[in-house]
Amino acid sequence: MTRDERQAALELIANEVRACTACRLAEGRTRAVPGEGDPDTEVVLVGEGPGFNEDREGRPFIGRAGALLVRMLASIGWQREDVFITNVVKCRPPDNRDPQPDEIAACAPFLRRQLEVLDPSVVVTLGRYSMGTFMPGARIGQAHGTTMPADPATGARDALVFAMYHPAAALRTQALEQVSFEDIARVPAVLITSRERRAAHAEAGEPAATPNDADAPAPAPAIATSHVPAPAAQPAKASASSLPVESPAASADDASQLTLF
Ligand code: SF4
Repeated sequence: MTRDERQAALELIANEVRACTACRLAEGRTRAVPGEGDPDTEVVLVGEGPGFNEDREGRPFIGRAGALLVRMLASIGWQREDVFITNVVKCRPPDNRDPQPDEIAACAPFLRRQLEVLDPSVVVTLGRYSMGTFMPGARIGQAHGTTMPADPATGARDALVFAMYHPAAALRTQALEQVSFEDIARVPAVLITSRERRAAHAEAGEPAATPNDADAPAPAPAIATSHVPAPAAQPAKASASSLPVESPAASADDASQLTLF
């Protein structure tokens, strides 16, 4: 898929999101928030749902939590335009309540299709509801800062998932903010590891990773797939090997200095 084809496919999904009435969240929204970012990115950030400002503007992570997320990305030399940012539910839950399981399930096909189009190397989950989509049963207190292979049924056919606290939680306590900066500092190293895995899979002609892959950088709970339909077969995204990587064996400290583009 070319960049233009990815962009067009993402816009098609976005238009469906804006017209969607598949769950009760459609009733209270001002604007749906499909997500935004670079269609050629290797990294997708998945939050929970739009808040007040996002609902007004139709864009993800533009309030105080978004500002913190931008600062966290800047701490590893990335900009929000370098990644793709979306949520597990695309419409604002009333009074910013937690999204309900049936709302997450209703919205899941949109996220799955976005991931199928983007074919990221890394999915960063922001908050426990996003983490629950990719690491069912995990507890954020233990799982933050850890990674595991994505179940291809999520739409991310050969990616590593990395769990983080939601930036809104990090805004509430200095300690969580510190932890979040420490966690995001590991993401470039996870990207390098994922690039290596994808290259090895492509070279071996292997199918996409499974949650039981032995080369996962850290153990994590198994993924349940009952709420996400199987992805449609698509050709693999071109290798990311043309992006700058100083050394395949770079340490987390080294990797934190890398840039995506
Ligand atoms: Fe549709 Fe998702 Fe919005 Fe529910 S939250 S109305 S499923 S776009």
